[in-house]
Amino acid sequence: MNLKATIGMETHVELDTKSKMFCSCEVVETDEPNISVCPTCLGLPGALPVPNKTAIEYIVMLSLGANCNITNEGMFHRKNYFYPDLPKNYQISQFDFPVGVNGSLEIVLDEELHSVEIERVHMEEDTGKSVHIGSGRIDSATSTLLDFNRSGIPLVEVVTKPVISNSKMAVAYIEELRQLVIDLGISKGKLEKGNLRFDANISVANEDSNELGTKVEIKNMNSLKSLEKAIDYEIMRQSKQIEKGESVIQETRHWDENKQVTISMRTKEGSADYRYFSDPDLPNMIIDEEFINNSKKNIQNLPTDKRKTLKESGLSLSDSNYLDKGDKWLYDLYLSTVENTKDSKSTFNFLTGELQGQMRKAEIDELPDWVDSEKISNLINLFETNEVSFTSAKDILAKLLGEDIDPISYATDNNLIQSSDDEEIKTLVTSVIKENQDIVERLEDPEDKLVGFLVGQVMKSSENKVNPGSVKDILLKELFG
Ligand SMILES: [Zn+2]
Repeated sequence: MNLKATIGMETHVELDTKSKMFCSCEVVETDEPNISVCPTCLGLPGALPVPNKTAIEYIVMLSLGANCNITNEGMFHRKNYFYPDLPKNYQISQFDFPVGVNGSLEIVLDEELHSVEIERVHMEEDTGKSVHIGSGRIDSATSTLLDFNRSGIPLVEVVTKPVISNSKMAVAYIEELRQLVIDLGISKGKLEKGNLRFDANISVANEDSNELGTKVEIKNMNSLKSLEKAIDYEIMRQSKQIEKGESVIQETRHWDENKQVTISMRTKEGSADYRYFSDPDLPNMIIDEEFINNSKKNIQNLPTDKRKTLKESGLSLSDSNYLDKGDKWLYDLYLSTVENTKDSKSTFNFLTGELQGQMRKAEIDELPDWVDSEKISNLINLFETNEVSFTSAKDILAKLLGEDIDPISYATDNNLIQSSDDEEIKTLVTSVIKENQDIVERLEDPEDKLVGFLVGQVMKSSENKVNPGSVKDILLKELFG
């Protein structure tokens, strides 16, 4: 039996606003509990919510960035359930009139572009935080404390249609969404801080079937690695059950990072269980053309635009996607460097391989302020034109990261410039041929591996001061005519 998996992603993005969604409490990042709370976000009787305009603007921006249609007349709903960290006993959310609908995000997998359809983008508010004392886990805690600093922080939920077919695609989608919210400037987008939290709805069905299998929701994946592993595990678990003729139960499962398995949490509740109804404390939300146009003004250079610019510079799709998702300074440095080097691949390799590698080793996050694209492109051009060896280029880079030097004068002053003087090389070649007669006699053709050995001998005798390309040309001419 051939089976196929279908995945839909639900992602909560924490918005980077100054204040909370329905009160003026400051959004704080602290371990000190309950310092940014008021009657509204504590759910005290009589307290009324007032929507945060900036948060609505951010949600409109994200909807536009994800190519959604904007619902002009939106509505706030109450999603009713009890939990100790939800003091109102309901969460203000949106139900049948989300801000954005029917969008799509372009993602990159290897050298291919795919489109992930977005079903909806809507507003939510965060809950408080339960802190389990003792073990950190609810089932073995001695007590549980409540911190309401997080209560009421604006969230936006982005829901895809069930169109993702494997774990790699799900990871690429989250990476794209993360970059989108960073480039829009609406969220810090830090996964390790929980700025993006994702659940996956996974079902497995017969490959020929037009219907989806039973949906299982997977929660508690807090990194892209655990997302990938949890999806792979869950597809395997459901497939095995179907192959044995057993039916898959519709439920919510929890990814157990230690055991590397998904564990049943509860049978899945449907939206009817939450008794959604429109919030009587909040009027309908009118998002008119003027508001949309104002939000549009803040949108520039999104991941798709950056990828296009990078591709136009001559990079492959996957290399473009790599730089697109990296630090902004690296993206800017690449574009200004490639102007002077004209070799996109070699510039990409040098920046992402050598430069980033050496920075990691030296444990520096930012380029020293004397390192600019002119110095970097001069350095790349030095080894691209074989004026210095790649080994020397790496040494010059290491020096440059430590102090303000000019790569060209440094190479000259330290005798690193390789000679392309044919006469000088010819003298060295002749003596290496003489000293290695036994090897020369064994040579069969110009492709022989031993040619490389002889080139190495010439380089060695010159103390790496000659250009290896010229050495090979002259050596082959001497040997094979
Ligand atoms: Zn408050």
